[in-house]
Amino acid sequence: MARLPVLLPLPLAGAYDYRVPAGMVPPERGSFVVVPLSGRLMIGVVWDGEADPDLSEKRLRDIQSVLDVPPMTESLRRFVDWVAAYTLSPPGAVLRMAMSAPSALEPPAAKAGWRLSPLGARAKRGEAAARLTEGRRRVLDVMEPGEVYPPGEVATEAGVSPGVVRGMADAGLLESALLPPGQAFPAPDPRRPGPALGEAQAEAATALRAAVAARGFGVTLLTGVTGSGKTEVYLEAVAECVAQGRQALVLLPEIALSTQWLERFEARFGVPPALWHSELGSRRRRDTWRAVAEGKVAVLVGARSALFLPYPQLGLIVVDEEHETAFKQEDGVVYSARDMAVVRARLAGAACALVSATPSLETLVNAESGRYAALHLPTRHGGAALPEVVVIDQRVAPPERGRFLSPALVAAVRETLAAGQQAMLFLNRRGYAPLTLCRACGHRLRCPNCTAWLVEHRLQRRLQCHHCGHAEPIPPACPECGAEGSLTPLGPGVERVQEEAAELFPEARRLVMASDTIPGPLAAAEAARSIAAREVDLIIGTQIVAKGWHFPHLTLVGVVDADLGLAGGDLRAAERTVQLLHQVAGRAGRAEAPGRVLLQSWNPDHPVLQALVANDLDAFMATEAEQRRPGHWPPFGRLAALIISAEDEREADRAARDLGLAAPRAEGVEVLGPAPAPLALLRGRHRRRLLLKARREVMVQPLLRAWLARVPLPASVRVQVDVDPVSFL
Ligand code: ADP
Ligand code: ZN
Repeated sequence: MARLPVLLPLPLAGAYDYRVPAGMVPPERGSFVVVPLSGRLMIGVVWDGEADPDLSEKRLRDIQSVLDVPPMTESLRRFVDWVAAYTLSPPGAVLRMAMSAPSALEPPAAKAGWRLSPLGARAKRGEAAARLTEGRRRVLDVMEPGEVYPPGEVATEAGVSPGVVRGMADAGLLESALLPPGQAFPAPDPRRPGPALGEAQAEAATALRAAVAARGFGVTLLTGVTGSGKTEVYLEAVAECVAQGRQALVLLPEIALSTQWLERFEARFGVPPALWHSELGSRRRRDTWRAVAEGKVAVLVGARSALFLPYPQLGLIVVDEEHETAFKQEDGVVYSARDMAVVRARLAGAACALVSATPSLETLVNAESGRYAALHLPTRHGGAALPEVVVIDQRVAPPERGRFLSPALVAAVRETLAAGQQAMLFLNRRGYAPLTLCRACGHRLRCPNCTAWLVEHRLQRRLQCHHCGHAEPIPPACPECGAEGSLTPLGPGVERVQEEAAELFPEARRLVMASDTIPGPLAAAEAARSIAAREVDLIIGTQIVAKGWHFPHLTLVGVVDADLGLAGGDLRAAERTVQLLHQVAGRAGRAEAPGRVLLQSWNPDHPVLQALVANDLDAFMATEAEQRRPGHWPPFGRLAALIISAEDEREADRAARDLGLAAPRAEGVEVLGPAPAPLALLRGRHRRRLLLKARREVMVQPLLRAWLARVPLPASVRVQVDVDPVSFL
C-alpha cells in the first residue's frame, strides 16, 4: 500500500505519513489533502521525501480525499522548507502562512444573491407603473440590470433595511440568482503606454525589463534620490512580466497607506492590482488566494505575507523601500520579507528588484560585491531640485521653556505659510507626551505589564502602553503620593506639537497624521486628497508621513527632534535614523518650488546630521561599513538572538543562565549575554536575551539547533529565535 508524507499547518517537527487507500489514485506532490489527526480532519499538503517504511501499518491512517485545488508548486514547497530551516521554525508553522485562506481550498459554495427582474429593470428606467417608496428607489438606483449582488450588499449600499429588499422581491421587482463564483481580477494591460521616461529612467527601465525577459533569477538594486521616478521604472518591469504572461508581486511596507501608489498603478495599467494584507476581508482573501493559485492574478501588491501565496508563474518580485524595518516579521515565524523575497525569486526562477532611495547596508554590500546588479537614478524627475537641509542648533537658539519649536523653525513655518505653501512638522512619537511625572514625588507612570512608560494620549484622555496596548484613564492624583494636580507631561509627542502649532499658527489648517488619526486606507486616501487639494496648510506627523507620499505643494519639512532614534546604542540606530530623516526630507520640494528641511538637534555635529546636510549618504554608509567590518558585525558577520521569556522572573533567569552555560564554543563564534532585554518585561513576561555573533562563513542554524537541543527547558519558558535580528528590544 502506498504511503505519502503529508505536512500539516501545525507547529510539528515534520510531515506525518499517511496511507493512500485502495481505489485512490496516489495524489501528486503538493496536492492538498484531507487527513485525520487525533480524531479530527485537517487539510495538509502531500510533501516531498519518502514516507517511513518501518512505521507499522496499524498506526497509519488513510488520506480521506484530495481537494480540487491546483497542487502547491514545487518552488513554494522548497520555499516553505527553506524558510523553516533558516528561521528554525517548524515547517508546518511556515506552511500555515502559505495556507492563510483555508476556505479557498474548499469547493466554491454556490451562493444566491439578488438581481433586478425584468419588471425591476423597467421600474428603474421609470417605465413601469410600480409605486416606489424612497427606500425602494434607492435600491433600484444602486443595482445595475444583469448584475447579481450578495444578499446583504444591496441593503447596505442603498442604506435600507433588509426588509425593504425582501419586500421588493415579494413585489416581483427583484429575483433570486446565483452569485458568480468569486470575484474576477481584471487583467492589467501591459501595452498601455506609460509616461515618457527621462533618460536615466529609460536606461534603468530597459535594464530591468531585460532582467525580467531573461526568465531567470537575478537581483537588481534600483536606487535614486527621492522623487527620481523609481516607481515608474519598476512598473515597466511589471509590464514586461505581465506581457510574458507571468505573475508579478510588489511588496510595499505599508500597504494600508499606499493609496497614492494604487492610483498610479491604475493610471498606468487601467485596472487596480490585486491586494494582499492583513485587513483584507475573508471573502476577498479567499477569492484572491484562489485566483493567484489558478494564475488569474497578473499583478499582486501586498504586505510581507504575500510572499507565501501560491503563484504558479512568478516572474518578478519588487520590494519597494527595501530598507524598511516593516519587512521584518517579529512574532510567530520571525523572518525578513526582503531577504526571503530574494530566496523566493531564486527558487521560482524569477527576477527580483530591491528599490530604495536609502538602501540598507546589507543590500549595498551585495551590490558592491557584484552579487546584485545596480541601477541608479541621479536626479529628481522633471528637474526638481533636492531640498536644502539645515541643522538648527538647539544649544544656541533653543525653544522657549516648555516649548518644542525653536524660533528659527517657527519663523520658517510662518514664511512658508505666508507664501501660500504647505509645511510639515515631523516627530516620530505618537501621543501627547512620552512620559508623565509627578512633580511632588518624582513618580513616573509606567505600564504594569512592560518595562515602558505610559504615553499620554490627550485626545482620547488616556494613558497607553505602546508595547502591549494597556490603556487607563489619566488619574486625577498621583497613584504613589496622592498629590492632586501634580502629574506633568514630560517631552513632546505629535499631539503636543499640534497643540503648540495651534497656538503659534492659529490660522493654519492643520492635519495630524499618525497611526491613530490615519488608521487605514480610507483615512490615508482622504488625507492625501485634502493635502493635494490644498485644504491643509500644516501637516504634523509621525513616521507615516515619511512613506512615499508625493505632496507637490509641500516646501518645508521641520524635524522636531532629529536626535530621536540615535540614542539606544542599537547596531543600526544611525543607519535607520539617516534613512528615516532622508525619507522625510524627501517629501519637500517635489514640484517646481524648491524645498527646505530644518533639523532641530542638540548634537549638530553628529555624523548622521552632517550626512543629511551634505546630502552624502554614500559616504555615510561607507563609514558605517568601515565601523562594522572589523568587529564582524552585519552585514560582515552574522547575528542570531535568543529571547527567553517566562511569567516567573526566576524561571526566565534560570533558563537564560542554563542556555548561556551551554552556549556553542567554536572558531569565529561568540555568545553575548544573557542579559535582561531592554524591554525586560513585556506583556507580563520577563525577558532575557542572548546574542550569537559569528563570522560570515559560519552556518549559524546547525549551531543554534544543537544548542537548543542541549538544554531542556520547562514548558512555561518560551525561547524565540531571531536570525538576523533587526530589533534588539
Ligand atoms: P521615487 O519613487 O523615486 O521617489 P516617484 O516614482 O514617486 O519617485 O516619482 C516622483 C513623481 O514624479 C511622481 O509624482 C511621479 O508620478 C512623477 N514621475 C516620475 N517619472 C515620471 C515620468 N517619466 N513622467 C511623468 N511623471 C513622472
Ligand atoms: Zn505594556
